Amino acid sequence: MKTIWLVIPCYNEQEVLPETSKRLKSIMEALMKKGKISGASRIAFVNDGSKDTTWNIISQLHEENPIFVGINLAHNRGHQNALLAGLMTAKDYADAAISLDADLQDDVGAIEQFIDKFAEGKEIVYGVRSTRATDTIFKRGTAHAFYKLMKVMGADTLEDHADYRLMSKRALEGLAQFKEVNLFLRGLVPMIGYETDVVYYERQERFAGESKYPLKKMLAFAIDGITSCSVKPIRMITFLGMLLFSISVLMLIYFFAVWIYGKTVAGWTTIVVSVWGIGGLQLLALGVIGEYVGKIYMEVKQRPRYIIESILYTKETV
Ligand code: UDP
Ligand code: MG
Repeated sequence: MKTIWLVIPCYNEQEVLPETSKRLKSIMEALMKKGKISGASRIAFVNDGSKDTTWNIISQLHEENPIFVGINLAHNRGHQNALLAGLMTAKDYADAAISLDADLQDDVGAIEQFIDKFAEGKEIVYGVRSTRATDTIFKRGTAHAFYKLMKVMGADTLEDHADYRLMSKRALEGLAQFKEVNLFLRGLVPMIGYETDVVYYERQERFAGESKYPLKKMLAFAIDGITSCSVKPIRMITFLGMLLFSISVLMLIYFFAVWIYGKTVAGWTTIVVSVWGIGGLQLLALGVIGEYVGKIYMEVKQRPRYIIESILYTKETV
């Protein structure tokens, strides 16, 4: 029988944890009874430096029942890093790990399907939203714009797949070999390879608490995702530069011809417009290049992606 770990990053999730833990526990216990997963399977909560009582709740859950594992990060490192910390811990204990959000937006009823696909021999199983009916129009719109932008910019991701996925031990070991600090798991996981499959599910509404991804964080996430997956933005600037240069050469020829015929060009509009145009483009180009230089800077330092303060785990079977 396979040992499955659920990995759930939590940042200020005190409102949802009591309910989340209850539901996940009953699902895991049912699966154990059916003989689909072993008694060594666990529900691992990663506390991402929460400022509320999240860690207290997790510690208490662990004390009450060894099925709950607590991983306490020393500091808030963001969703992706917290998830990685959980997955890398799970890798040492489990045959496969399923990552999901604390707010139960990822339909937990699909967990069994993930495990079935894993039993069929799939190494990575992606959870894909079938509809987005429960999201606000704004969230739906921005999310779709995000996937489109990602595609145009050359980052290969699966549409409508967030971080609800199963990864086998082998896939996790593959993931462990990616040492990058600028972590964008959705872009990395497809690069691992292996046999994959998809499970469709309905995305639910967050049942308590607030989204930890306001627009500002989402934008930063999008930019991070693109720049850590592809260098296409730089190439686009190169092409833009070539285009503008060709236009300026044509303009030069044209104005030279006009000058030969003795007609002087009137007006300063053209000059002002081109000064602003070119100035703006140069700043934009510098910004994009700076984005990559900044990424290189962070990568070169090789700082740890997360630091685990403590792990609450007991070995007994449940
Ligand atoms: N999260 C985290 N660290 C952060 C922000 C979020 O671990 O700095 C977790 C959060 O607790 C949740 C998951 O990431 O389990 C997704 O966050 P959220 O549900 O707020 O995002 P949304 O679903 O609104 O995109
Ligand atoms: Mg959510």
